[in-house]
Amino acid sequence: MKRVLVTGGAGSIGSYVCDELVRRGHQVIALDNGPSLKVEHLFDSGRFQFVQDSVLVAEVVERLVSRCDIVIHLAAIADPKRYVNEPLNVLNVNLKGSLNLLDFCSRMGKRFVFASTSEVCGKNPNVPWDEEADRVLGPPSINRWCYSTGKALIEHYCYAYGQQEGLPFVIMRFFNVYGPRCDDLGQGRVIPIFLEKFLRGEPVVVHGDGKQTRCFTYIEDTAQAVVELALSEAALGQCFNVGSDRETSILELAQLMKKVGGFDNPIVFKPHREVFGDSYEDIPRRIPDVSRIKRVIGWEATTPLEEGLKKTIDFYRKY
Ligand code: UDP
Repeated sequence: MKRVLVTGGAGSIGSYVCDELVRRGHQVIALDNGPSLKVEHLFDSGRFQFVQDSVLVAEVVERLVSRCDIVIHLAAIADPKRYVNEPLNVLNVNLKGSLNLLDFCSRMGKRFVFASTSEVCGKNPNVPWDEEADRVLGPPSINRWCYSTGKALIEHYCYAYGQQEGLPFVIMRFFNVYGPRCDDLGQGRVIPIFLEKFLRGEPVVVHGDGKQTRCFTYIEDTAQAVVELALSEAALGQCFNVGSDRETSILELAQLMKKVGGFDNPIVFKPHREVFGDSYEDIPRRIPDVSRIKRVIGWEATTPLEEGLKKTIDFYRKY
């Protein structure tokens, strides 16, 4: 039995990670500055504690890190609209919060499991990306890249702390995670945004020509990978792509959601600039090479997109 601190533990991925850890008999503390709604079903388990506070508060972080064996650090602002509108908050939480945790994990010899992102590779056109793929980004004057850069800097810190201070760490790069409990409808990422439109009977807005692609990864598959990586000795000191390698264009996604949900909304197109202004740049294709995670822990994403979308749509219909 391990004692695990999950930052962002009441968020979408975090709540599934807490579920999986508790199910496997581990002791879990979830630290989150948001409400406990997504984890309240764990309150009676006897193995779960919720602390509502911020990763920016050093005293809280120090106290909680001292009480655990492993830190899974998921807390972050990961919403492309917020990269553009609140770059300062995105940078502060992603950098200062992570540095607080790294510092205490390093001093106390605790394992640090870091949620990074496929955004780290930016718009590198040479897909699929393995974990050593180049980072191809635009200039810092384009706010979009502040999230990618903040996450990449913390990856650097992981390697540096590992090399100079002996920190045990694992880095995970997520690829477009979706599913029930992901964001409020209409907020955050493309699937909850599309779904809100579908459920309200409004036109679904595809940005650009809809040919840009993503690999959508079901949340329960993702949570399995996080827990396996966090507990694996073989994973230590390495970075892993955590994703499905099925490539889907945004237009296909809209059409698939329409079919799976039995909707009849119109699908319309809108230029990116009209939605985000000038401080944004889209990524044409994003595909992981998942051979490392398969080899090291034997994980692969198994939920087909149609099935994951069906579960997601059913969840939000009852919401
Ligand atoms: N997108 C879209 N319509 C929307 C929201 C998003 O066409 O209402 C597109 C967005 O421009 C991007 C893709 O869907 O090309 C994925 O966007 P998301 O915000 O989920 O995150 P990203 O993968 O870009 O980080």
